[in-house]
Amino acid sequence: MIATAPVHTGLELRSARAEALAAEAPAAREPLLFAATLFRAQAALAKGIESIVLTGRFEDDVDRLLPLTESLLRIVADRGPDLLIEQSLARLDDDSSTARTRLSLYWTGDVSAREDYLSRAILRPYVEVLRAQGATPDRLHRPRHCPFCGGAAMVSTRRTPPDSEAGIRLLHCALCALEWNINRICCPACGEDDPYKLPVYRSDPHPAVRIEACETCRRYVKSIDLTLDARPIAEVDDLLSLSMDLWAMEEGLTRIEPGLAGV
Ligand SMILES: [Zn+2]
Ligand SMILES: [Zn+2]
Repeated sequence: MIATAPVHTGLELRSARAEALAAEAPAAREPLLFAATLFRAQAALAKGIESIVLTGRFEDDVDRLLPLTESLLRIVADRGPDLLIEQSLARLDDDSSTARTRLSLYWTGDVSAREDYLSRAILRPYVEVLRAQGATPDRLHRPRHCPFCGGAAMVSTRRTPPDSEAGIRLLHCALCALEWNINRICCPACGEDDPYKLPVYRSDPHPAVRIEACETCRRYVKSIDLTLDARPIAEVDDLLSLSMDLWAMEEGLTRIEPGLAGV
């Protein structure tokens, strides 16, 4: 068996990165501080989940998971942005069957993170722990989605592995944080592979970041170049260039999967 760091440690590292960036980037301070808080709450949730035996079958695991989610909801209700405060307070009042149904709708893909940010936030530590325990989640797998859990790609990175001259392109799962390879010329949403239909947009203040768009489906993924600076944690550093997402929205483009700021 390969020894890997516990899931909660990885989430704590993300929290620390978000907190450090918040001190350096006043424009992105608020979303970064919220991300730091959320990752800490997810780390605490992961710690609780790590001590129970999971099956990966949602119907079997959800009853053990639900009692552990209250503290995350309380933290978001205390320190989240306005919209999430309202939603967390409502969920804290849910009876167990409503709470179950909300998570179940996200699990089956009937509701996305765009409509239900909190279910993704709650299920993230669960699915990441499943991956660490080698338990396969019973979710639908779709092309160009995460090969482990069927989650959508939140962000993308480019890097050059040692011993290789060609760079690789990775997608990062929004639900279990797995990174997987994808062709450099391919829309992760619809599979378009005509380079003339896949424009790339950059912005001077964020030289390592680009918007990789698709003219066929009008969706995009944000990509961070890690070939020069390998320190960024993609889903955290993504928040530094929120202005690029706002620009893309104005252009009528939709992000494949919202980032931590919910955009
Ligand atoms: Zn995944
Ligand atoms: Zn497309």
